[in-house]
Amino acid sequence: MISLRDLTVSFAGVPALRGISFEVARGESYGLVGESGSGKSTILRAITGLAATDGGTMLVDGKPLDRGSRRDIAFLRRVQMVFQDPYGSLHPRHTVDRVLRESLAIQGIDDAEGRIAGILADVGLGPQFRYRYPHQLSGGQRQRVAIARALITDPEVLLLDEPTSALDVSVQAAILNLLAELQNERRVSYVFISHDLGTVRYLSDRIAVLYLGRLMEIGPAERVFSGPHHPYTEALLSAVPTIDGLAPERVRLKGEIPSAINPPTGCVFHTRCPRMLGEICRSQEPPLLPGAEPGHQIRCHIPVEGLAVDRRELEPVPDVAE
Ligand code: ADP
Ligand code: MG
Repeated sequence: MISLRDLTVSFAGVPALRGISFEVARGESYGLVGESGSGKSTILRAITGLAATDGGTMLVDGKPLDRGSRRDIAFLRRVQMVFQDPYGSLHPRHTVDRVLRESLAIQGIDDAEGRIAGILADVGLGPQFRYRYPHQLSGGQRQRVAIARALITDPEVLLLDEPTSALDVSVQAAILNLLAELQNERRVSYVFISHDLGTVRYLSDRIAVLYLGRLMEIGPAERVFSGPHHPYTEALLSAVPTIDGLAPERVRLKGEIPSAINPPTGCVFHTRCPRMLGEICRSQEPPLLPGAEPGHQIRCHIPVEGLAVDRRELEPVPDVAE
């Protein structure tokens, strides 16, 4: 449904994303994880055109997402976004009805009456909410309105940047359930970000791990959560409490994320890696190569267990140009 190939973005000459390639299938939920500043939001902003790309291609349903297609309203309606902050993202003097009506008007869709009533019911808001203003709504209700605004045009892809992290813990689960339900019913693809790995595990089919603007590991969510290969993924995941409440074995990362202005040589993670191998990690950037299971890709020099061949003799994952 959405395909990124070798996407590169920089801000004032400083690279924020490099060689980002992945594909999201119809109805699939794709989670992006990584520490703050790793480039997650920039990926979503590049897709929506809010961040300019230096290189690479983006396809939605096989059609290039470029300057031309960004002027094509019918095409653009296929990708919608939900932001973290439901307070800032709704106009304070617009009623719910007006918010939804404008989303339809921008896309030139008629039949506002039927659609507005339908989408409000779908996001769990009764008809009594229709003429309310944002200040008359709770955080969770506002986020339901933001989701309704995005889905009312029937997009194929929904981009979600930390959709629950500004909400009270007590309402986060309700919004997550709603998102999971809506996805089942509509077969819409999600690309979403959350710093809460419990959320990511709950919602994603696949996850991609970012560090300093590079993809370090991609794989089926259960595979990556139960047995991450990359030491960075391992460290990220070890910070999550386990379901049975036992303290997990924590892998602690040394130091701070290096500056993107002057990224480390070789593997960008080597300066903080608890399992650094030595010179090879310091001097050669590992390509993103397949792991032992389908769909698993890893950017790391540490040999993959259960893989009979030397990964360095494998072809790099086809759409990753190094
Ligand atoms: P994340 O969402 O993973 O926290 P971001 O995508 O927001 O990370 O940022 C990635 C990098 O790009 C950071 O180093 C950030 O400082 C930089 N960056 C993001 N947006 C801008 C911008 N508009 N101008 C300059 N630098 C930016
Ligand atoms: Mg962000």
